[in-house]
Amino acid sequence: MRNFLSDIPFHLFACCILVKGYNRSCIYDLQRDDFEYIPNSLYDILKESKNLSFDALLSSFDQKEDKETLLDYFKFLCDKEFIFFSNLDSSFFPKYEIEFSKPYHVSTMVVDIDVFELAYINKLLDTIFKVKVECLVLRFIATTYENIIKVLKEFNDMPTRILQVLIDKNTSVERELVEGVFKTNDRVSLIVSSSDEEEYIDQFDRGVFFSTKRDIINEKKGITDIADFTPNLDLYMESNFYNTFYNRRVYIDRNGNILRYEGDTMTFGNSIDVELSMILQLPDFKKYWNIKKDDIQKCKDCEYRYMCVDNRLPIKTNNDIWGFDEECNYDPYQSEWKK
Ligand code: SF4
Repeated sequence: MRNFLSDIPFHLFACCILVKGYNRSCIYDLQRDDFEYIPNSLYDILKESKNLSFDALLSSFDQKEDKETLLDYFKFLCDKEFIFFSNLDSSFFPKYEIEFSKPYHVSTMVVDIDVFELAYINKLLDTIFKVKVECLVLRFIATTYENIIKVLKEFNDMPTRILQVLIDKNTSVERELVEGVFKTNDRVSLIVSSSDEEEYIDQFDRGVFFSTKRDIINEKKGITDIADFTPNLDLYMESNFYNTFYNRRVYIDRNGNILRYEGDTMTFGNSIDVELSMILQLPDFKKYWNIKKDDIQKCKDCEYRYMCVDNRLPIKTNNDIWGFDEECNYDPYQSEWKK
């Protein structure tokens, strides 16, 4: 029984992107920020069929089993609303242009703060205004609730799109004082606090507070399971050209030193006396920005590669392509996660 228009050509919605992996493929639904797995055989059918109806496609298969499989595929595609039917030529339904541009010179700036020094904070603000930062992550290290409030007050009226606050284990913020942090700065949407106490989540009008036992400042998390993936249009486009973790990332440590990422061993001067806009031009500073998953051994065969924000540092392997020191927890050749 077919409950779709089997004699009219089918078309994939433009927001549904096919991504082929070694062992299986995915359809990323970039309108719903979701994805589904499909077998590579269905990927090939969708990739190769243009202006073809289900009935016409069905007639190209001889075996009864293949015909039944094709029918199952189409029921799935219709249920998930990945395809629609139209007699218009497919050129009337243009695909997304693969392009990426943003008005920000820095996508993520991570700043560690342990004391409140107005002159230093003002210099940071000046830098942020000049380079245009999309997401600012303030990490409070071994400091006090009072210092957090003082710093956040200064960061009101900033042109960043996202402001997140991380609090280390050596800074204690009482549960009943958390709302005060959100109220101090309208832009704070997320606060994560490391603590040996119980883990919990508090939802406030302005954002979410997580209390976790994880060492959020020093941990090297990597990709651990499927919960780490949420496809979206921005991420998909960026993944086609750049490394989604390292691209336009800046880390400023407690002493004001400018580095490329947390844990970097190369410093690029101090933010007090160096203009970040100049540092952003240096080839060494941009070394990892363009290393996309398609350039990395194993990742290039992975169906998650356009929604994966893996933070392992790519290294050049012997045969001149990129790889990692540490194995990913996911194996795209077996479609399995490490136990
Ligand atoms: S293999 Fe690469 S793309 Fe796939 S999950 Fe691991 S890090 Fe991400």
